[in-house]
Amino acid sequence: MTIIPTYTGFDEGTGRVLFGLSDSDFNKVTQGYGCPTCLEDFGGVYHAKCYVCGHQRDVSADVVETPRYWLPDPSDPDYHA
Ligand SMILES: [Zn+2]
Repeated sequence: MTIIPTYTGFDEGTGRVLFGLSDSDFNKVTQGYGCPTCLEDFGGVYHAKCYVCGHQRDVSADVVETPRYWLPDPSDPDYHA
């Protein structure tokens, strides 16, 4: 299954034809459920490396900072290091 880009316009400055993705397809690509290079749709499964073209995803971009409220509070009387 492949993500299909749609024509969005023509850039007269560069002479390039521009294509875009639907919101859901764009989210698939940015979140690791689709390939940004060959636009393979991974069918709802996250892949760090595309099994079609071999594109390697920057997995460090997928790691988010731990929310502060998840961290233990040392001033809490029940806190034990
Ligand atoms: Zn790919």
